[in-house]
Parts: sequence; C-alpha cells; structure tokens
Amino acid sequence: MSLYNFTDLLQVAKQREFKALGSFNLHCLEMLPAFFKAAEKTNSPLMIQISTGTAKYLGHRLLVDAICSLSASKNVPTCLHLDHCSDLEAIQTAIDAGFSSVMYDGSHLPIEENIANTRRVIDMARPRRVSVEAELGAIGGSEDGKVVALEEIAFTSVEDAKRFVHETGVDMLAISIGTVHGLYTGKAHIQHQRLTEITHATGIPLVLHGGTGVSDEDMRLAVRSGIEKVNVGTEMNVQWVARCKQTFEKGKVNDSVRNFLVPANDAVTDVLVEKIQLFR
Ligand SMILES: [Zn+2]
Repeated sequence: MSLYNFTDLLQVAKQREFKALGSFNLHCLEMLPAFFKAAEKTNSPLMIQISTGTAKYLGHRLLVDAICSLSASKNVPTCLHLDHCSDLEAIQTAIDAGFSSVMYDGSHLPIEENIANTRRVIDMARPRRVSVEAELGAIGGSEDGKVVALEEIAFTSVEDAKRFVHETGVDMLAISIGTVHGLYTGKAHIQHQRLTEITHATGIPLVLHGGTGVSDEDMRLAVRSGIEKVNVGTEMNVQWVARCKQTFEKGKVNDSVRNFLVPANDAVTDVLVEKIQLFR
C-alpha cells in the first residue's frame, strides 16, 4: 500500500465517521508498532509525523520503508508527514524520500516572506501529490528545540489567514488560537470564536498544534468548529519515558531489552486510542 497524502487520508477518516485526524509524533522506531496497534483498535487511518531531528536520526528511507511495510501488512491507510520545517532543502529531501505530506513553517517570518516560501514548497510538492501544511501566527512553547516565549505568542488574525490561503493555495493551515507546544502546567484555553471565524474565512482544514494540554471537552468543540488535524506529541513521549523508567529500574541487565519496551508501547497505544476517540 502506498502512503496517503493528508487530503486523501482525511477523506478516508470522514468515511469512517471521524471529524478530524490525529497526527502523532514518532520519536523512535521502537514506538511504531504502538501507533499501528492503536489505529487497528479504533479502525482509524493513521497520520504519523516526524520532526526534522527524528528524520535525521533514523534516516528518511528507513522511516518510509518501515511505515509503508506496516501500512500494507496491517491494512491501515497511513500518511507520513514532516512536522515543522523551515529549511526548504530538508523538505525536498523528505519529498524525494517518499514522505506524503510536509509542513513548511514560516510563522516567524513577515507574512509576505511566509507566503512566498510556502508557494515554493507547494511547487515542490504538487508534482508528487504531497500535501502541504503552513503556519500563520506564533504558537507558544518549545518544538524540536525552537522556543516561542509567552510574550512572543501571536494569535492568527482572520484577515491574514484569508489572504494567506488565497495567495498560497495551501492544503491545511496551522493557526495560533491559544494552545502551546510541549508540556502544560495547566489547561489550554482555545479561542473558539476566532477558530470559527478563520474556518469560515479560509474554507480549508485547520491544524491544532500543542494538542497535549487541551481538555477533552475543548478538543471535541474544536473539531466541530473546523480543526481537522490535531497534533499530539508530548503526551506519548511522557508516557513512554515514564513507563521505561519503571521497567528499566526493575529489570535485570541480561533481560531482553524488548521486555522493557513492551509496557511503554502499551502506554503509548492507550494514549493514541483515547485521543482518536475524541475525533469522532
Ligand atoms: Zn507544532
């Protein structure tokens, strides 16, 4: 089975009565079976996203081959997406390796430059039917080593979003409406009014980053107001590390390392299943 781009995968999700797709950050190859298990349990298509750092660590070809192979053998429609990337060369590398979706993040640039670069990425992606996500506004928190401080957060304006989508023709747009990347100390407060207005102004799928700290109620409301891709990363990582700490602590050095990882993967599957249910 070949990989799906975001637009095609969203259609599969809608046919199976999901309102949105979760996009889950894979941090290491060992975590991969847990993702597919969750997709099988929920009869959901699967969107896996990779940071540029993880792609470099694992190698693009290995990721594409492993994910294609699992997608075919498990019969799970799957999209492989490059998360936040502002380096056009790195995006080309991912497209050439077979990624089916990419994100160009020019949110730190003036809107004109963000539009120009996003258009270049779309020109690179279209011939391969690769979907393109862009970002407008500044989402707070830390992502793959990049930090946006609280005072630098800029919510996405409705007018800018409308112009951006019109001038780029991007497939999906990440917006800043109150969520923060990384680990939360409290709960995020989504600006639902702003979200609804941006949905009506743009008419394309909107993306929620920093899904970890959003309450279940807020998440359900967001996917009813135009969010069709929800990024979840930190929560799986936290569960995986917490469970590994326990098992490694208790185990013996001559135990198979596999035995330490299985409980961690079970915890990751549980997080994914719980999140996927919210998108119905
Ligand atoms: Zn993000």
